[in-house]
Amino acid sequence: STTRRPLMAGNWKMNLNHLEANLLVQKLAASLTEKQLTDVETVVLPPYTDLRTVQTAVDGDKLLIGYGAQDLSPHASGAYTGDISGAMLAKLGCTYVVVGHSERRAYHHEDDALVGAKVQAALTHGLTPILCVGEGLDVREQGTHVAHCSDQLDGALKGLSADQVKQVVVAYEPVWAIGTGKTATPEDAQEVCGEVRRRLAENFGQDTADVVRILYGGSVKSSNVAAIMAKPDVDGALVGGASLDAEEFAKICRFP
Ligand code: PEP
Repeated sequence: STTRRPLMAGNWKMNLNHLEANLLVQKLAASLTEKQLTDVETVVLPPYTDLRTVQTAVDGDKLLIGYGAQDLSPHASGAYTGDISGAMLAKLGCTYVVVGHSERRAYHHEDDALVGAKVQAALTHGLTPILCVGEGLDVREQGTHVAHCSDQLDGALKGLSADQVKQVVVAYEPVWAIGTGKTATPEDAQEVCGEVRRRLAENFGQDTADVVRILYGGSVKSSNVAAIMAKPDVDGALVGGASLDAEEFAKICRFP
């Protein structure tokens, strides 16, 4: 992973109001040096209602922190009450958007076709989709987790060109390790991240597979991040709970 810039993305989920969001972003930026923020791409993924505040903080102080949303509509605009378009996110300076998080797949019944449409919508608006794949405990226990993740990947990237896939970030998040304190072993993370890269090479060419960043997510903390990042096909982390603490997330970003 020598040529791929490490990416640490903090998924705040449904936490923090706009005042708390401002505080966290300021603290995070103050905890990291310019060199650290250059070496490791640092991104926060707040709820929609915090995005304008994060934009103001980042622009106002020229912070080297990227930001994005946790979901987007597959549609460009129109009669979709409660939804948010890629154009709206891009206008707020977002550069990333999470797509297909396991919580959205589970609680909002998102399938691979919808997730794929959201990937396309993100790319259309110049946003980098962070496409999440991952198996539940039942699938893990059956031993079919690699095929499961491969199928989710294929389903969501169907119809994309190699050049489009080069713009995508993939996150492997085993559902049984999210918010449970149960981290997959570095070997578990590598097994699926390696397969994701192999599959990308098969479908879109080795040059595409070589540039796509693949993250691991699931109870990542400052105490376990280095061992996970040492694996060859893990290029970063998608961090939930631990990203709500500025000092802890800064420590994760300082993993090397
Ligand atoms: C997530 O939901 O993306 C996640 C990885 O959560 P946590 O770090 O809290 O397990």
